[in-house]
Amino acid sequence: MTAVPKNLCLALDGARAGPGLAPLSPAWLWVRHGVVEHLAGCPPPELPQNTIQRHGGWVVEPLADAHVHLFLDGSRNRLLRADIAALPREAALERILTVLEACRNLGIAAVRDGGDPHGLALEAAALANRHPDRYAVVLAAGEPVFRRGMYGGFLGQGVETARDAARLLDQNRRRGATHAKVLATGLNSLDVPGQVGPAQFAPSELQAITAAARGLNLPVMVHANGPLEQVLASAPATVEHGFGCRPSDLQQMANRRIPWVPTLGAWAELLHDPGLTKSRGRVVRETDRNHRREVRVGHTLGVPLAAGSDAGTQGVAHGEGLLRELGRLAAAGLSPEAALASATHAARILCQEESPRPLGGLLPGQPAGFIWLAQDPVAHPCTLEHPRGVFLGGAWSPRERADAEPDGRTPGSIAH
Ligand SMILES: [Zn+2]
Repeated sequence: MTAVPKNLCLALDGARAGPGLAPLSPAWLWVRHGVVEHLAGCPPPELPQNTIQRHGGWVVEPLADAHVHLFLDGSRNRLLRADIAALPREAALERILTVLEACRNLGIAAVRDGGDPHGLALEAAALANRHPDRYAVVLAAGEPVFRRGMYGGFLGQGVETARDAARLLDQNRRRGATHAKVLATGLNSLDVPGQVGPAQFAPSELQAITAAARGLNLPVMVHANGPLEQVLASAPATVEHGFGCRPSDLQQMANRRIPWVPTLGAWAELLHDPGLTKSRGRVVRETDRNHRREVRVGHTLGVPLAAGSDAGTQGVAHGEGLLRELGRLAAAGLSPEAALASATHAARILCQEESPRPLGGLLPGQPAGFIWLAQDPVAHPCTLEHPRGVFLGGAWSPRERADAEPDGRTPGSIAH
């Protein structure tokens, strides 16, 4: 149930906002006409009549997922994945809209799509972004750039030259793309730990491609594994995956404030693939261990870490995959605050930079966006799985029906 309240006031056990997610406890949040009017440790001086008032729980700024593939399903069931990949266009779009509605219900304000071969994410963006009161906002790349015949065939046709790439990017932009996706390398080896598929483009080509994207006003998300020297020389907006990167790469990313989306879960889920041989299992485990160490080093050096689930990859479900990624970032060595902020701050800022509309937050004077939770999400991350309500796209969607009714007074709510 979604409503657009004129006034909503929550008297809370606490609130967390901003890059550090410092707690404000207790906290009073008053949203007026969709804008944060008051967020403070004391009640607002006076509330208009017909204010929806609720009390208890915590609020946190909305989540965002910096890396998904909407056209794919995260199921481990190969037949189901194949069925979904073969859906007729209309049914495929319908499915994506259902995914986006579920994401919004979890408090995910936006998802950044890493590419698909059919333009489905672009089309979903055109439909969903008109209704942020119902769906997560979609920021889409369209068909990604990779070398024809090399890794990436499931995502598109591939290109032969940098000039082809520029044409493809222009085509994507005309269809509504808000960033470019470039595959600079291949995948990690399942047989030799640390080995990565070869570079797809010569350094000069990669530079020409990212320059073309920037010329079209498309920030570049670069899929890259292995040493990142050439990739960083091409000035990407973000680095995706980054398995096998070197400490010097991480130092450079920290110095230049280049966000990193390490997608820990997409790789770690391979461990649950029933078809994985013993020796490959060892390689997957070792690569995962190394990547967690890379993430820890990157975080210590100050690389901006943005949470991205790579949802749609086998074993990584849309929505829930992001919450699991936050757990993996924490397990890799980030504090619970830093892990959560990688989605509520870093990923949300990345999405906001591309978004046609404000995603919302808890800054006074700005459009409101938040998740209302039963407990403090830093102390109890599980509370994120069942929000009591979300305020996104200017609309309030409480889980309980009674919470949507204006004037519903709850015992103990602040009264005026
Ligand atoms: Zn991806």
